[in-house]
Amino acid sequence: MVQIHWPPTYDRSYVPEPGSEYWNSQAETMAPAEREALILGNLGHQVRYAYENSAFYREFWGDAGTDPSNIKSLDDFRQLPILTKDHLRQEQEAHPPFGRYLCVPRERVMRIHGTSGTTGNPTLFGIGEDDWDRIAEAHARILWSAGLRPDDMVIVTSVFSAYIGSWGALLGAERLGAMCFPFGAGAPEQTERAVDWIGYVKPTALYGTPSYALYLAATARRMGIDPRKDFNIRLMFFSGEPGASIPSTRKEIEETFGCHVVDMGSMAEMTPWMTNSGCRHLKRGMHLWNDIVYAEMLDPDTKAPTPPGTEGVPVYTHLERTSQPMIRYWSGDLARWDIEPCACGRTYPTLPDGLSGRVDDMIIVRGQSIFPSKIEDILRSMPEFGGEFRLIVDREQGRMDSLTVQVEVVSEVYPGKSNGSEDSTLAERRFADELRRAIGVGLKVELKPEGEFERTQFKARRIIDKRSY
Ligand SMILES: [Zn+2]
Repeated sequence: MVQIHWPPTYDRSYVPEPGSEYWNSQAETMAPAEREALILGNLGHQVRYAYENSAFYREFWGDAGTDPSNIKSLDDFRQLPILTKDHLRQEQEAHPPFGRYLCVPRERVMRIHGTSGTTGNPTLFGIGEDDWDRIAEAHARILWSAGLRPDDMVIVTSVFSAYIGSWGALLGAERLGAMCFPFGAGAPEQTERAVDWIGYVKPTALYGTPSYALYLAATARRMGIDPRKDFNIRLMFFSGEPGASIPSTRKEIEETFGCHVVDMGSMAEMTPWMTNSGCRHLKRGMHLWNDIVYAEMLDPDTKAPTPPGTEGVPVYTHLERTSQPMIRYWSGDLARWDIEPCACGRTYPTLPDGLSGRVDDMIIVRGQSIFPSKIEDILRSMPEFGGEFRLIVDREQGRMDSLTVQVEVVSEVYPGKSNGSEDSTLAERRFADELRRAIGVGLKVELKPEGEFERTQFKARRIIDKRSY
């Protein structure tokens, strides 16, 4: 397949026949070797473009053992240094507000988005109009694979702010031709109103976070509404948290709503962030839509490519971005990747467990790496679990780390009920045994009543690390 123009332009009016499995069958089902040639061509264009239009990249690549204006192989490409969030932050501080990796004149920035800045200064994304069109095209194509069709109605139940997740979901669903309901989140009693509206207008698809879906279900039940019988949601697509690929969380959401769950999302900086995405056939995990954003899977220490079937850190590169291209951007996620056939027929590599471990979220207790997603999986598979939990890590002066898991439990086993103390001792022991077996570290379990912990409408923060280093 010869592609003449870079960056590509797309026909804004194109939509496949509703019965089609694919948005672009040729691109999505081609032989991997053929796709690799196409990717390499676009990598060459993208890198040369950044080199010619960005003083930042020219400086950053000054010592690279390759000619950025003439990338001919993946080996050439891998000579370029890896870019991290700290690089972006420092560059934006030195050259505010966008940094010199903005490759278009300032007046061509159509939208500003950014990170929340919860861990350090926020970083800003300047997105040009032509990139916005390509993001819409990419998200429409991927939402099509998730099973979204023009006769669907999508409710977006995440906050509309500088956070790009909501806007990216809306943009793709609109481009695909679905009816969109940008409902938002975060205002007082907005979830109660979401329950009312979902019961009233009956959207068939929902975008948000897995935490929000569980919160919505709990709110609905409290209002006497059954999310499975009284709603009509057949598809939920999520980003921002790993929950959609955590087996027990996913099962709970699918059973609660009677829907199919699709896990999505790379990073805000990498928008179109949907290029990691499940499809309407995949039971969990995500395909890597490598012809839109190229993902290398690298060893976290040696930075060498890891073979299929093993874990690596995804390192992403835009292939069709003109405003702020990210080239070899380090994600900090850890994921197993593989090449395995899917019933959808797409020939992309797959992350079978999704992005279940974020290196940032990982806690190390007595030398053992622990991912909160693993603990969540165990807890949600247990019938006594009350819906939320917290991990408390502590260390007394000169002593060992201690891990306490505070677990909400259903009222039947919570201490204080009739017969409670016996049941609760058994429950406590069962939780501790199951968790210890799964993570290999001794821990203490404290039972808490259902509703003890705040339900989040966004991303849940479940780790409290009290250690001083
Ligand atoms: Zn698939």
